[in-house]
Amino acid sequence: MKCTRCRKTQAAVDLPSHHSAFCPECFFVFFRRQVEEGIRNFSLLSPGDRVLVCVSGGKDSLVLWDVLMELGYDTEGLYIDLGIEGYSSRSREKVQSYAGTRGKEPIVVDLHAEGVPIPLAAKSIRKEECSVCGKVKRYFFNRVAAERGFTAVATGHNLDDEAARLLGNLLHWDRDYLSRQHPLLPGAGEGLVRKVKPLWRVSELETAAYGFLKGIDYVIEECPMSEHATSLVYKDALSLIEEKMPGTRRKFYQGFLEESRRWKEEGADEENAAALPGACAVCGAPTYAEVCSFCRLKSRVTNPGDVLKTFYGFQGRS
Ligand code: AMP
Ligand code: ZN
Repeated sequence: MKCTRCRKTQAAVDLPSHHSAFCPECFFVFFRRQVEEGIRNFSLLSPGDRVLVCVSGGKDSLVLWDVLMELGYDTEGLYIDLGIEGYSSRSREKVQSYAGTRGKEPIVVDLHAEGVPIPLAAKSIRKEECSVCGKVKRYFFNRVAAERGFTAVATGHNLDDEAARLLGNLLHWDRDYLSRQHPLLPGAGEGLVRKVKPLWRVSELETAAYGFLKGIDYVIEECPMSEHATSLVYKDALSLIEEKMPGTRRKFYQGFLEESRRWKEEGADEENAAALPGACAVCGAPTYAEVCSFCRLKSRVTNPGDVLKTFYGFQGRS
């Protein structure tokens, strides 16, 4: 099959949901345009931004970093070493070697050094690893960005991730999560930096194809802690539908964004227009509570007996 764009070269990537097939060069053009359009649709980034790209060593975030650099954005990479044996050091190597090819040195946060490696943290507070991990990562994404003067934090969530998350939020009718699910989360005050997901328009397959054709070396194994993550079930369910009805995933997510824009215009979620957050009494991070959830977690991990006394002045027990 010939490329549907240049009509000269043999197609290498078949995209039924776009009724197209592209040769590598035309695919790169297509992919970059999709990302640019995704950025433009919601004004995710502007040329003056200093962007902190959160890179896990997986394909999505390395591809994101690559495209943002190609589009001319001022970027640095942030890697969080989660302290997961084997997996974390292998991911870190991929991040460092990719950064090296671009003459960059990633910023690294080591959760062992911070006292909260994920396996220990999850065990200490008897919570599921993925939810603890998500909370800790979000905390450091924002903290590093705020401390170092970045104006935006970018993550590699793609269309498949966002559609799967939407399905999960709908199945549980989680209104709170639904109202906050968006490619753009605006910053607030000095301490809360804008969060963006510039890959929201491109599918996992498109991202993988871009990474492969560009020769980006990424970690292929999944995180060993995410083996039973429910998000994988939602992804599989949507893939099944997508296979029979190409384009459904895109319509599902884009339709949601369109609807949520209308709800916001109609003021349906006025109650969610929260006031500016205050500062955590321990670390100064933005929070709506007295002590932020990361500091509460850290205290429970590093100092199990003391948490109530320390933060709530609870004298009766220790
Ligand atoms: P996940 O939460 O693992 O689905 O990852 C979603 C996005 O979060 C990735 O595309 C990255 O942008 C970012 N991310 C995940 N893990 C890390 C990590 N260890 N260090 C830095 N960024 C990460
Ligand atoms: Zn704190």
